[in-house]
Amino acid sequence: MAKIKVWIDRDQCISDMVCVSLCGDVFEISEEDGKSQIVEKYRIDPNNVAEGLVPEDLEDCVASAAESCPTSIIHYEKVEG
Ligand code: SF4
Repeated sequence: MAKIKVWIDRDQCISDMVCVSLCGDVFEISEEDGKSQIVEKYRIDPNNVAEGLVPEDLEDCVASAAESCPTSIIHYEKVEG
């Protein structure tokens, strides 16, 4: 089954929480630096908060966040496996 790889260019995050509001299943705000990160259960590497692999049924959720992010720093692509 395909999955959605999603990553955030966190350096440019302005912490406005748009992604969290639209897709809280995937995005959350870091308590450490106040920027968006992938929720723990979807991280590919537990130590890399910027990258995740989510079920395909969350694609619309991720897409709405990516389209609405004011700095356009959320990226995603479909991967097989
Ligand atoms: S919508 Fe974009 S700029 Fe806003 S918190 Fe999310 S990643 Fe950061």
